[in-house]
This record gives sequence, structure tokens and C-alpha cells, in this order.
Amino acid sequence: MAEEREDVWDVIVVGAGVMGSSTAFHLAQGGSKTLLLEQFFLPHTRGSSCGQTRIVRKSYIAEHAHYADMVTASIRIWQQVEKELGTTLLVPTPRLLWARSENPKIHAIADTLDGVGARNSRLQTGELRRRFPMLRFPAGHVGVLEEDAAVIKADTAVRCLQELFVRRGGRIKDGERIVKVVPGQTITVTTATMTYRTRRLVMTCGAWAPGILCDLGLNLPLKPLRINVCYFREKQPTSTHSLAANFPVIKDEDDDVYGIPSLEYPNMVKICRHVNWKTGHVANPEQRDVNIREHLEEDVRYLSNLVRRHLPGLEDKPAVVETCMYTNTPDAEFILDRHPRFHNIVIGTGFSGHGFKLGAAVGRLLSELATDRPPFLNMGPYRIARFTPPKAAL
Ligand SMILES: Cc1cc2nc3c(=O)[nH]c(=O)nc-3n(C[C@H](O)[C@H](O)[C@H](O)COP(=O)(O)OP(=O)(O)OC[C@H]3O[C@@H](n4cnc5c(N)ncnc54)[C@H](O)[C@@H]3O)c2cc1C
Repeated sequence: MAEEREDVWDVIVVGAGVMGSSTAFHLAQGGSKTLLLEQFFLPHTRGSSCGQTRIVRKSYIAEHAHYADMVTASIRIWQQVEKELGTTLLVPTPRLLWARSENPKIHAIADTLDGVGARNSRLQTGELRRRFPMLRFPAGHVGVLEEDAAVIKADTAVRCLQELFVRRGGRIKDGERIVKVVPGQTITVTTATMTYRTRRLVMTCGAWAPGILCDLGLNLPLKPLRINVCYFREKQPTSTHSLAANFPVIKDEDDDVYGIPSLEYPNMVKICRHVNWKTGHVANPEQRDVNIREHLEEDVRYLSNLVRRHLPGLEDKPAVVETCMYTNTPDAEFILDRHPRFHNIVIGTGFSGHGFKLGAAVGRLLSELATDRPPFLNMGPYRIARFTPPKAAL
């Protein structure tokens, strides 16, 4: 086993998805000598940050309204990245939510948007039909249009963060899987081929977090979930479902299904179930695609039904299916905290299928935790202690 000749690193970040890449960028920006280690050769499609598009939105229910503020902070950082690299990451795209009028969730989301000052319009069925003729709404449906939502170019965004990290003196080593961590004032990190030493460690391991954290004595309630990403083709290749034609990002709040006008493939819409702790298909990321037929068929049936109901211009079977991973907590809140025993180990996980847009801000928060600076947002909702069982009454 080779021992690295470098001195001790200030910080090692494990995992080069959006969260690790952003954390590494912020650390290098703050002057920390930082190494970013990734188990696969970059770029790869095994984690959660792969693919070309993610939604940027502030539409959350009241209990999760703090994410709307985090989105504002994150957008500011994404815009700085765009400016420095002279590129476009955020494509303004309104987001249309709909539901049966008796569904309280859609009204709660509209209230949150009002509360955080995000421009939105509440639409009755007639207005929905008039403004979105390519969509079909049965009677009794209402909608909310979040005017300033966006689509972020996801894999480009991760690449940009990595580029800025390297520009600031950071080092990336891919194809290096961490197999052992020995905590201490100086932490020893062992990969298949190398041993590194560092004062601080940030673990942003996505769906692999449960295993590696368990080795550090931490059993967090985390479920890696396999997501089927389906692309439905237009019946006529008219591009009416494209960003260029102002087709919105869509979300059916009754069925928890969302869609994005596809950047990836012309004349297709990317449509997925937004699953949670209870509804998702649990999968070991090392065996992600084993025994998937039943779940895939179930998802395709579910999504095809929705397409037939609401998207008459699309074929009702997906033309392309890809795969991605969520890592969910029971409350869909992130975990951003120090290890309870080893305070120089910082953990960022449990992004529960809504983390990407927030990655720029999360990286800043994790870098602040790792360097003992006060976090710029309230960290209350993200603490590990929320899972600790209450002490028995004396
Ligand atoms: C289909 C889909 C759609 C989504 N849509 C949205 C959306 O519209 N908006 C939104 O905000 N969010 C969305 N998300 C969620 C968002 O993409 C994730 O929250 C985010 O990408 C999580 O990033 P991560 O860095 O934690 O994980 P990852 O990207 O998986 O990164 C973790 C990295 O750690 C590496 N790693 C793990 N273990 C080790 C080890 N032992 N040694 C070295 N490296 C290791 C992995 O290889 C991986 O590269 C979506 C997710 C999916 C799957």
C-alpha cells in the first residue's frame, strides 16, 4: 500500500457528486488545502448527480419552507459560477403544479410561495386549459404556476464546480474508493491503492453513505432508492413540449409525478415518480440493476396512466428509461452535521431527491462546518440528533 508523500491535507472530501464537488470548491475558495476523492472515474452515471437536467424550485410545503430560502442562496452561488466561467447553468422555466382542488398540498405550496415572496399564480381549471393547451385537465383541477423556477444543467454544473475547485488549487483523484477511515486528530483515509492523512474529512457519499457511515459507528435512517427516469416521445415531432416552446416543468401533486421538457433528447419529456421513504424502491447501489423488472413495470404502468390522462401529445410508453439514485431520510430533511463522536468528520447525506439545486449552498454549509466557521443558515433541521431516541424519563 502506497503512502502519500504529500503533507497532511487540511480537508479530504469523499464523493465527487454535486455535494462533494461544491464542498470542495468552497473549501478551496476559503484557502483550505483540499483533496476530492471519487471511487469511479469521472464523469460517471452510478450516483445521484448524473444526467443533464434538474429542477430549481421554491415550491415546498410549510414544514420544508426553509429550503425555499436555501434555494435563494444557492441560486446566487450558481450565478457566480456562471459568471466566472462565462457559461449558462440556469435556464428560466416556470413550474406548473396541478392537483384536484380538494388536495390541501397544492394550496399549502402556494401559501409557502407567497410567504417567501416567490412570484406565482393560482389557476382554475379553465385558466389551466387556456394557458396550457398541450396538457389535459379534467374538471375540478387547480394549478399553481411558480413563475421564476428554472432548469439547471446538472452534469455541466458539477463539471463547473470541479473546474473552479481545481483553478483554486484543489486536487481531484478519481478511481479511488475509500475502504477505511481511521478517526483521530489526524484522520487516516485508505483507498484500494493509497493512504492519505487529513485534519478534517467531509463524507458526501450519496447512496453509499449508509455502509461507510456504519463502519464509523453511525447507523442513520437512510434508504438508497432506485429511480426509473422515463422519457416519453411526442406523437408528432413538433417540439411543443420543449423549453424553446415554453413548455413548463410540471408536477402532478395528486400522483407525485414530475416532468421536465427534455434537454437530453429532442422531442421527449423526462417524467419520473417523486418517491419518498414509504413509496420508493430500496436498492443497494452496488446491485442497482439486479431484479428490477417488477419495479420498472410498475413505474411504467403508473407513469403511462398519467401521460394518458394529462399529456395527450405524448406516446404513452417511454422510449428511453435511465436510472438514478435517491438517498432518503424518513422526514425528507437533509443530514448536514458533524459525526457525533468524531467532530472533525462532517457528513452531508440524505438529500431525499431534492438536493441538486441546493448543492451550491449545501457545499458552503459543509465547508463552514468542516472549518469551524459559523454556518450562514440555521442548521437546526439538518442535525443528526433529531434521530436520537429521547432519553427515558427518570
Ligand atoms: C432522477 C432524479 C431526479 C432528481 N431531480 C432533482 C431535481 O429536479 N431537483 C433537485 O434539486 N434535485 C433532484 N434530484 C436529487 C439530486 O440529484 C440529489 O439530491 C443530488 O444529486 C445528491 O448528490 P450527492 O453528491 O449527495 O450524491 P452523488 O451524486 O451520488 O455523489 C456521491 C458520490 O460519492 C461517491 N462515493 C461513494 N462512496 C465512495 C467511496 N467509498 N469512496 C469514494 N467515493 C465514493 C459516489 O461514487 C458518488 O460519485 C434528483 C435525483 C434523481 C435521481
